Amino acid sequence: MIRTAIYPGTFDPITLGHVDVVRRGMKLFDRVVIGVADNPGKGPMFDVETRLHMVRETFAGEESVEAVRFSGLLVDLAHQQQASAILRGLRAASDFEYEFQMATMNRRLDERIETAFVMAREDYTFVSSRFIREISAMGGDVRELVPEVVMGFLHKHQESLQR
Ligand code: ADP
Repeated sequence: MIRTAIYPGTFDPITLGHVDVVRRGMKLFDRVVIGVADNPGKGPMFDVETRLHMVRETFAGEESVEAVRFSGLLVDLAHQQQASAILRGLRAASDFEYEFQMATMNRRLDERIETAFVMAREDYTFVSSRFIREISAMGGDVRELVPEVVMGFLHKHQESLQR
């Protein structure tokens, strides 16, 4: 039996914190499907196709990692992908409340799907997509916190704002 987990998020943009979560997930599951949420309500910096592209480039060559775009219920995506688990990352206690609510709600929707939490490397505990967007918008250097492909898109975004 192939064990599949869905790792959902906005990935606006993907960071090395996310990458670390996926790599830990790869040790626990045979297949990790990254669900890139089509979350227009959140007013993302990058459109869903660009976010998906950055995720796919980051894991190019990793056969056990896939990325799909999704909207709607996470449990529906889990069914579609024949996943038995949802993978999430925890940074600090501040993540807990929201993650707890989401895991409990998803369990109510389908109690067969388990949510699994992993903690990223300590160096990434402070890394969030929001932080990357803000620092980069102010001209700060985030090279060591995001996959290489993301840097190009951050620069492009900066240029489009300056035009
Ligand atoms: P969303 O904001 O839509 O929940 P994110 O893309 O920000 O999605 O995050 C997806 C998941 O990855 C969440 O479970 C989040 O806690 C986790 N995560 C994000 N960054 C890190 C990090 N640096 N270390 C550990 N987990 C992280």
